[in-house]
Amino acid sequence: MTITALTGEGEVSNVIVPNGTPGFTISPPMHKLGWHASDTRELSFKDVAVPEGNLLGERGRGFVQFLEILDGGRISVAAMGVGLAQGAYDLAFAYARERRQFGKPISSFQAVQFKLADMATEIEAGRALVYRAAWLKDQGRPFALAAAQAKLYTGELSNRVVNASLQMHGGYGFMEESAIARLYRDQKVLEIGEGTNEVQRMVIAKHLGL
Ligand SMILES: Cc1cc2nc3c(=O)[nH]c(=O)nc-3n(C[C@H](O)[C@H](O)[C@H](O)COP(=O)(O)OP(=O)(O)OC[C@H]3O[C@@H](n4cnc5c(N)ncnc54)[C@H](O)[C@@H]3O)c2cc1C
Repeated sequence: MTITALTGEGEVSNVIVPNGTPGFTISPPMHKLGWHASDTRELSFKDVAVPEGNLLGERGRGFVQFLEILDGGRISVAAMGVGLAQGAYDLAFAYARERRQFGKPISSFQAVQFKLADMATEIEAGRALVYRAAWLKDQGRPFALAAAQAKLYTGELSNRVVNASLQMHGGYGFMEESAIARLYRDQKVLEIGEGTNEVQRMVIAKHLGL
């Protein structure tokens, strides 16, 4: 396990703490709203000691390393947002063509068509933001602002799309057996992990010079 720790007065470093180190405890799996396929546990550290050789990178560079990893991680979570939104859209599209009400598929109603049109358009916008952030990173150019913008936009986008998709599924969408129910539960963490929506706005505002 790599942790970010104070290693001196105002000095932050990243340190490797192997499993089994005395004082390092790992909680049982936590019960989450979604992401059930991912094991999430609390880690506790009490009077843990490791040799200096366990420093990851340069001593005192921990905070900078931490922020760099976060910036890159934001692109990954933003990509998950686009993927989840695309999945929710695909389910809505298929269901709208299959489900019949008032004698015709619900996809023939303009209200449903407009919703799908908005979803498809916003997903492309989100995808473009993610590609741009990833391209900047690949080019070795500053990408922190683009990563935060992609993460913020796709987090909220995936929320809007999964909500609209479940709505389009009607009562069936509320059943655990429906695929959209799982996406609905899995979406929320995309607005929390790797920095909440509010934290992304703080990062963006800072980059704007505010
Ligand atoms: C499934 C899951 C997996 C996770 N995995 C990891 C992991 O692998 N590694 C890891 O380090 N962490 C992990 N986390 C933790 C995650 O990064 C934090 O939950 C997240 O960053 C939010 O921090 P917090 O929970 O302390 O919320 P808080 O900081 O307590 O925030 C609570 C609320 O207050 C708002 N808020 C806080 N400060 C401000 C402010 N200054 N201005 C405006 N609003 C503010 C927040 O936006 C949020 O809405 C995981 C969390 C989950 C749910």
